[in-house]
Amino acid sequence: MSSESIKKIAILGGGTAGWMTACYLDRQFNQAGQRAVDITLIESDDVDIIGVGESTFDSIRGYLQAVGVDESEFMLNTDASLKHGIYFKDWYRGDDEYFHPFEKVQIGDGVNMLHHWVNLHQREMNQHSISEAVGVQYKAAMAAYSPKISSNKDYEAPLPYSYHLDAVLMGRYLRQVSTARGVKHIVAHAEHIELADDGRIQSIISREGERYDADFFVDCTGFAQVLMRALKNTDYVDYRSSLLCDRAVAAQVALPQEEGSGQYNPRPYTSAVAQESGWIWDIDLYRRRGCGYVYSSEFSDEARAEEVLFQYLGKQYSGKQCPNIEPRFLKMRIGRAEKFWHKNCVSIGLSGGFIEPLESTGIVFIDSGVRFLAELLGADPCSKVLSDRYNSMMGSLYDETHNFIELHYILSQRADSAFWRHYRDEVKPSSQLQERLALWREKIPSSIDFSDTLSTFWENSHNFIMYGMNWKHSRMPANLQQLDSGRSIHMLSEMQKIQAKALPHFETHLASLDRIRSRGKRVI
Ligand SMILES: Cc1cc2nc3c(=O)[nH]c(=O)nc-3n(C[C@H](O)[C@H](O)[C@H](O)COP(=O)(O)OP(=O)(O)OC[C@H]3O[C@@H](n4cnc5c(N)ncnc54)[C@H](O)[C@@H]3O)c2cc1C
Repeated sequence: MSSESIKKIAILGGGTAGWMTACYLDRQFNQAGQRAVDITLIESDDVDIIGVGESTFDSIRGYLQAVGVDESEFMLNTDASLKHGIYFKDWYRGDDEYFHPFEKVQIGDGVNMLHHWVNLHQREMNQHSISEAVGVQYKAAMAAYSPKISSNKDYEAPLPYSYHLDAVLMGRYLRQVSTARGVKHIVAHAEHIELADDGRIQSIISREGERYDADFFVDCTGFAQVLMRALKNTDYVDYRSSLLCDRAVAAQVALPQEEGSGQYNPRPYTSAVAQESGWIWDIDLYRRRGCGYVYSSEFSDEARAEEVLFQYLGKQYSGKQCPNIEPRFLKMRIGRAEKFWHKNCVSIGLSGGFIEPLESTGIVFIDSGVRFLAELLGADPCSKVLSDRYNSMMGSLYDETHNFIELHYILSQRADSAFWRHYRDEVKPSSQLQERLALWREKIPSSIDFSDTLSTFWENSHNFIMYGMNWKHSRMPANLQQLDSGRSIHMLSEMQKIQAKALPHFETHLASLDRIRSRGKRVI
């Protein structure tokens, strides 16, 4: 930043969003030992953090590299495991499965393997599901292999991956990193927000009467939106009519015991198992397991939600004693701010918006929010042109995620409960999704369908979800009409051979975690 730039930034809120923001801005603005920008994080010890985000998206590796932390240290301190993607169970008809990997579809003999697969799918000639057929990651995940091989260094791997982690530990870890580098940390409850004559925020006043001034403020106060409420910037884009899940009950349980003396090999994927009024996440960290039922309060009360979660856990432990569980109930506000950046303040994290965690997007929004901010923040903290750009980019990211999550429900054919029947009979896809679905009846989703937007989920992700849920085109897409089915059968069987050769090179997930952890240093 130049000498005319912002000198002081105050971040209110010390959850995942607050510490990710502090760490990133500090790294961007205060390089080479110079403290050009004073960064202070203020958090209340009266208001708990949400702290339940356990599954992440593969962009988190870019974030961690950008803030300059060792992967091994990060993983050891956050109890992390590795993630290949998401395993969806019972979403289509109630007795099915599909997988959403991070891996991009492989190119075969000059023709994309996806095209070979769709060629056979349209002709009802497929032997394998899309995730089994077009790459390696699904099989590596199901066999509980790591995405890494033993010679890989930090952040390296033949397959793309992300982490499962303890969100509370992640916050503590980033706090340790940030404060060691010079970010100021103040524990104080913001009682009053003082505005200047032109309407911008001047100071945060604590309950004890302390005053904290800054040139620019970041609202990371979660659903409380303390700063944006003071600015009266609370207009909201509500997604609830098409994303019905607005509650969660979460629990932490012990990992299952392995028969004999061996240590349990954690599953390197997130499970999302559809239920009568929502779905359950099921995640293995290195030392514990996290589960939660995301449900709609219109179709389930708390008692029933708890029962569904316990039934699921009971089944998983199949007769073995299920450990003591203390469930935690959470309310979720599903939607996004109309304006994320207003006056000299930006909302990052839950204060800016939230979409149910089916595709692990909470941390993605924080990562994108702070990256865009670092790039746009200039001399004028209230710049209209820069804030308009920021608001349009963040709006697009949320709206596209909304479309993508909606797709998982819209394609389901379940009708075995009031919740699923409501989706089938009452919920209309957003107009953008309707247009795309009409397009995708005719053609395979591809990059040109997303050329006018900013999103986290592109054609690759859409393909795995749509074909995973048996999407059919109204006729053979034009670019496949000349593709011989014999050639496609041959290429898909070649892929099976490639998979068989590749898989033994991967380490088991547990071996990989032990190796990475042994290199890390404990700092919290
Ligand atoms: C059920 C559920 C499951 C989720 N799963 C995932 C997942 O798998 N993956 C993922 O990426 N994300 C997930 N998320 C989202 C993730 O939890 C959030 O994105 C993340 O926790 C960010 O929260 P936050 O920091 O914005 O807010 P919070 O954690 O709510 O933190 C708010 C902070 O503001 C402070 N504060 C509030 N009021 C004041 C005040 N007056 N003065 C001072 N400080 C104040 C609090 O003390 C706290 O420090 C999930 C969320 C939910 C609800």
